[in-house]
Amino acid sequence: MIPSRQLLASILFDAGEMHPLRRNVGFYTERGGTIGWLLTKDHLVVVDTQFKPQAENLLSILRETNDKPLDLLVNTHHHRDHTSGNIAFKGIVKTHVAHQNSYNNQKRVAEARDNLANELLPDTTFEGEKWSAKVGDENITLHYAGPAHTNGDVMVHFENANIVHMGDLMFNRRFPYIDKSAGAHIGNWVKVLQKARSMFDDETIFIFGHADNGYPVKGGKEDLTAFENYLSNLLEFMNKAVKEGKTLDELKASVTEIPGAPEWKGDGISRSLDAAWMEIVEGK
Ligand SMILES: [Zn+2]
Repeated sequence: MIPSRQLLASILFDAGEMHPLRRNVGFYTERGGTIGWLLTKDHLVVVDTQFKPQAENLLSILRETNDKPLDLLVNTHHHRDHTSGNIAFKGIVKTHVAHQNSYNNQKRVAEARDNLANELLPDTTFEGEKWSAKVGDENITLHYAGPAHTNGDVMVHFENANIVHMGDLMFNRRFPYIDKSAGAHIGNWVKVLQKARSMFDDETIFIFGHADNGYPVKGGKEDLTAFENYLSNLLEFMNKAVKEGKTLDELKASVTEIPGAPEWKGDGISRSLDAAWMEIVEGK
């Protein structure tokens, strides 16, 4: 039996959630890094793609409104929980863009996993600070400010909606993944967040890659400040611990929160400690 369109939509809708924000731009959550979208009957933009089943669910929902090719697909960075669903859009994307480093990382990781055939790599890359496109009545600008969560993270600004998808430059009240294997840098990450706060205004809505349970995957500048505070406190804490002669194992066995940033919790503080240690002690 073929399910009715409504039943199908409700099944799909249960699978994930569409969250409209402003001026036809919103976000979708199911499993993996938060997806951003712009949806009108004439235009379609998707930012990040989670995994293949989730991207297929999203596409079915988008198709209720728009059956045209995607004007633009953006990957904020290469991690699999943001790019594995790219393949669901194969053949129906006019432009698929990421920073050159993100492209290189995605290709390198896919080759190492012998999985290149199942990946959709961007067809367009850039290496400067900015890349822009006009889609309908919206201007979309990608901003790159150097290594942070990886060496290829971009902020995606829907300028007229005044919404910025931060990708994994933002972990809301959740210990971040800091991918040193892909050129992450905590010190510069702090600067990237400072730059974001100076570039965007108090009305800007930010979409976050991840949040801890009970916290939203969107917010404002105050949330960027709070995360910037977490990262700078992490570096300060590690500098002090190293001067006191502590070992990484000792720290990992005893530390449950970073002094000065008690809101950051959950599993995974060891990733922060590992990364800060590498940066401060090993200069990586
Ligand atoms: Zn990531």
